[in-house]
Order: sequence, then C-alpha cells, then structure tokens
Amino acid sequence: MSHDLFEAARAAMEKSYSPYSKFPVGAAIRADDGQVYVGANIENISFPQGWCAEPSAISAMIMGGGRQIAELAVIADKLPLCTPCGGCRQKIAEFASAATRIYLCDDQGVQRTLTMGDLLPYAFETDVIG
Ligand SMILES: [Zn+2]
Repeated sequence: MSHDLFEAARAAMEKSYSPYSKFPVGAAIRADDGQVYVGANIENISFPQGWCAEPSAISAMIMGGGRQIAELAVIADKLPLCTPCGGCRQKIAEFASAATRIYLCDDQGVQRTLTMGDLLPYAFETDVIG
C-alpha cells in the first residue's frame, strides 16, 4: 500500500542517529495544518538522554506551526512492525484524539492501522478523575 506518510517516515528513518542500538526508527505526522512533519530516533551515549522518532516529529510539528496530529506513521528498520513505546503514546496523545489513525509500517508500506484509542486507552488526563 502506497502512502505518503509511509514514504515520509521511511525517508526520516534514513536520518536516524542510532549508533548504539543500530535500530533506526522514523515517524511522520500529518498535522492539522496539512503539513507533514518527520522525525527519527536520536540516541546518546548516555542512553536515557536519547529520544524516539515520534517526539522528534512532534517537535518538528510544533516548531513548524502545527498543533494537532491528524495521522501518524511509524516505521522501524529491524522489526516487522514497530508500535510507539509507552512514553511516546502519552506524548502523541497530547496532540491527538482517540480517533487519530496510527499507521504501523514495514519497508513495503502500511501494514496495520490502529487508532490512538487502541494504542492508549484510558490515557492520562487530568479531567477523568472529576
Ligand atoms: Zn518512544
């Protein structure tokens, strides 16, 4: 399946800085402004200081003027399908709705489509308690 977000995520993955894990990941966001923003994982020799592809793409979106994620694609080089990690799910949820589509890709294209609600049911929100 051809998909421009898949193509953008795959191109972003090529820019990954992952010399330690050797595990490149790319992400691409279509934002509410219609623009596509991309990111890759960027590692650090002090491992906790590195970050994932999804927050890279979120940073690009915010700095580019986008405010809401319409849809997001993620691809990893060495996994059949890479889902966003737990921390990233919360970061994505900040700028998404439960219906936001998340595309899991391999090197052939989009292989699975989930919603943010699938990925992170009961996301942390301060208004669910009251
Ligand atoms: Zn992550």
